[in-house]
Amino acid sequence: MTAKFVIGIDLGGTNLKISLLNRNYKIISKRILSTRNYSARSQLISAIADSVGIVLADNKLNLRQVCAVGIGLPGPVDAQAGLVHFFPNIPGWKNVNLKKILEKKIRIPVRLDNDANLMSLAEYRLGAAKGADNAMCLTLGTGVGAGIIIQNKLYRGSSFAAGELGHLPVNIFGPKCNCGGIACLEAYIGNNRIMQKVEKEFGRKIALEELSRMANHGNKKAQKIWDDVGLYLGRALVAVVNLLNLEKIVIGGGIAEAGELIFKKVRKVVSEQAMPVQAKRVKILRAKLGSDAGMIGAAIFAREGSSV
Ligand SMILES: [Zn+2]
Repeated sequence: MTAKFVIGIDLGGTNLKISLLNRNYKIISKRILSTRNYSARSQLISAIADSVGIVLADNKLNLRQVCAVGIGLPGPVDAQAGLVHFFPNIPGWKNVNLKKILEKKIRIPVRLDNDANLMSLAEYRLGAAKGADNAMCLTLGTGVGAGIIIQNKLYRGSSFAAGELGHLPVNIFGPKCNCGGIACLEAYIGNNRIMQKVEKEFGRKIALEELSRMANHGNKKAQKIWDDVGLYLGRALVAVVNLLNLEKIVIGGGIAEAGELIFKKVRKVVSEQAMPVQAKRVKILRAKLGSDAGMIGAAIFAREGSSV
């Protein structure tokens, strides 16, 4: 008999979130720690292992009642080997076999994948992309990551590195990106870039929530900034839609909170500029599962493994 429960973990640059989920991937209990409290790699790994023990103890469960642990990670991961290539925003991780290390510590099967892939898996199974055979889910934040579902399965690519929407070039000339590319989408619509634009335009720092509020109240300069975000994102999605002929594109993450300010523009650009057959088919929707998506996706992958 397979164990009833599963553990889903979402490791981000800011938070380490651990949750216990039941068979239907409903979160039963959750624990959130600050990633920055653990500067050394070994400390962070111990915090993950200890948290699994604490979540089990809190719910009066033993190891045998948990089938597996899944972890979403903020960087490129070889999901088959359980190998972390590196994390762009957490130093000290290079070619670390986190699966092996953790399995030795906690004695439950561990599966790892990139966080954007697992968020997409969750939205596809239980959220806004449900029912679509072909879909892409993207998260807008400091980075722009995406996960692609092709014919009902997560498409990871030949080196488990597919879905880097943020590094799609959107111009011939433009800023150089950390990835080595030029004029990457992320350099136009990543959080940092928007903040820079805001400072230049208004002469002071303004939180993005406030920028959304200002735009909604008719501030033309604020509207223009969101409009440009929608334009660049829309152009990138025209390429994606023409190439993959998707049914649904789901957008989540911090910037997506700007809501209709961005969505209206993105939908307009895609409907006007993508090829008519593809444009007619695709629905562009807001993500449903919010910040729990990563943990839910991690749990689905942990339980169902390579079949997803
Ligand atoms: Zn790039």
